[in-house]
Amino acid sequence: MKILFYSVRAFEKPYLQNAGNHHDIQVVFTEESLDPDTAVLALNFDAVSLFTGDDASATVLEILKEMGVKYIALRSAGYDHVNLSAAGRLGLEVANVPDYSPYAIAEHAVALLLALNRRLTESHKRVSGFNFNINGLTGFDLHGKTVGIIGTGRIGSVMTKIMHGFGCKLLGYDIHENDELQQKYGLRYATLRQLCAGADMISVHAPLNKDTYHLLDRELFGIMRKGVTIINTARGAIIKTEDLLEALENSTIGALGMDVYEREKEVFFKDCSKTGIEDMALKKLIGMPNVLITSHHAFLTAEALTNIADTVFQNVLDWQHGKSPASKVP
Ligand code: NAD
Repeated sequence: MKILFYSVRAFEKPYLQNAGNHHDIQVVFTEESLDPDTAVLALNFDAVSLFTGDDASATVLEILKEMGVKYIALRSAGYDHVNLSAAGRLGLEVANVPDYSPYAIAEHAVALLLALNRRLTESHKRVSGFNFNINGLTGFDLHGKTVGIIGTGRIGSVMTKIMHGFGCKLLGYDIHENDELQQKYGLRYATLRQLCAGADMISVHAPLNKDTYHLLDRELFGIMRKGVTIINTARGAIIKTEDLLEALENSTIGALGMDVYEREKEVFFKDCSKTGIEDMALKKLIGMPNVLITSHHAFLTAEALTNIADTVFQNVLDWQHGKSPASKVP
């Protein structure tokens, strides 16, 4: 079994090397991301491993198939970047890493929420310049406030438990209800409109699919509480960016924390400090004092990287032994 890892960056390479050392699998790393031009690098590889910014559209998958690739081992939980129907048609098997650490992402969502509420970046900026004035840094107690959790799966469940610990009231929206969250943590399921209208803070933890694309738009921003805090660590396109900007500009949204962005593929994971960026909407968001953006690194903990690497190799080993991996994507 020979596998080409695309988009490998320094932060994950030691974890992948360590996990790969124990198996009879030939591993090649490239920093190149997968696209129509780089797909030919996979010539004579049995498998490729992809990250969220890689292009796994039908065109690219067709080239991979021509190169002899049979398996796609994702290094992510989300698989919205893979054209699954094309993969199915071409007979390419896909496996993801569904459960590497829901804690990493939920904890990052909480970090964004707290940093925004307590104005930590502004405070740090002031103190760094020896300005110890605290005017304008007033936040609010999380205790007693209502948090709306969109998507109460693995990550949303951890988020629910953490926010319960803060003494928050909890509203949930999901197509599948979780009894434990209702019984033990007092989460009340609601319609999406009820959640939007009743929450002081909203945290998004649903996958991106055809039903969640632009789920939060102008109409729903219109019924939210004035000054609501929105946190999105799921996928950028779940929120319609243009409507998000409008809701920030008219102060419907009081604060926004995002680890993901609708058009993040163009810039995230890259150092654009010398070239600058062309995306005007992103530039506007970055310039807003009540917006805190991280570049898709909610997953970036040592535990998560270890689990990702182990699961990727387990999936590849399963294929090597003619088995279907437990995390095969349908
Ligand atoms: P999960 O599958 O355990 O949970 C997702 C939940 O969303 C499920 O309960 C599901 O029923 C619900 N859902 C699906 N469609 C829905 C819809 N139309 N409306 C409402 N709810 C819906 O997934 P998870 O592990 O909790 O991950 C959630 C998402 O977080 C992933 O799909 C991925 O996009 C994102 N993620 C981001 C990072 C990051 O680094 N920022 C890392 C991992 C995952």
